[in-house]
Amino acid sequence: MSSEPDLGPISTADDFILLILSSPSGAGKTTLSSRLRAAFPGLRFSVSHTTRKPRANEQDGREYHFVNREQFLAMVAENRFVEWAEVHANLYGTSVAEIERARGACEGVLFDVDYQGARQIRARYPDAVTVFILPPSLKELERRLRLRASEDEASLTTRLSAALGEVEHYGFFDYLVVNDDLDLADRQLQSIVHAERCRRQRRARLAERMLLDTRSSR
Ligand code: ADP
Ligand code: 5GP
Repeated sequence: MSSEPDLGPISTADDFILLILSSPSGAGKTTLSSRLRAAFPGLRFSVSHTTRKPRANEQDGREYHFVNREQFLAMVAENRFVEWAEVHANLYGTSVAEIERARGACEGVLFDVDYQGARQIRARYPDAVTVFILPPSLKELERRLRLRASEDEASLTTRLSAALGEVEHYGFFDYLVVNDDLDLADRQLQSIVHAERCRRQRRARLAERMLLDTRSSR
């Protein structure tokens, strides 16, 4: 499904992080990602393109770039997506321009994509960190989907049955976070970002020391 634009390495900064959050729709990804961005202001949110209709509280260019199917498919034909997928009968994709904007301009990019998008981004950027957010139960997922007033019965049923399929892909992800208690899930996500940053900085320091050693021994 993914197009193959020639992007090259995204960043060489030690603490630059590509963080992919994935979950069944309604599990709390939007809520958690906005908390995470408040805790890490240097983390930029990747605004996807979608053919889905905006919900009541959504603004074009903030949650999504809302386009029609024709516009989306034209972008696919022009190779303008890093990844894209059809989810619940709507098209969603991350544009190359979105990644380009992030290059060097921030400390990291936060992606909200389904598991197909997560796989495509990871294939291109093996260093990306993938986190799967699980709802505590199907019953609770249904309750949360109902909280979103824009959800009609048909789309609710589609999303609930899709959730079962999505959870089957949990093994692909580096981390699982159960979003039961919101504060706890938020703290777990923050710890993941801290831990990944430390890991990257430490790895860069070790490599640097080794390089200096090698050079001075020549
Ligand atoms: P997603 O982005 O994954 O589709 P949202 O973040 O929009 O999900 O969350 C769906 C609904 O569930 C929202 O009304 C949100 O306030 C609520 N919610 C999210 N996390 C929790 C939680 N841990 N406990 C209770 N309600 C939650
Ligand atoms: P929603 O319509 O509820 O905002 O999102 C529905 C699903 O589409 C969620 O699972 C969300 O992660 C996924 N999604 C949102 N943006 C993208 C994207 O750019 N690419 C892909 N592959 N999935 C996306």
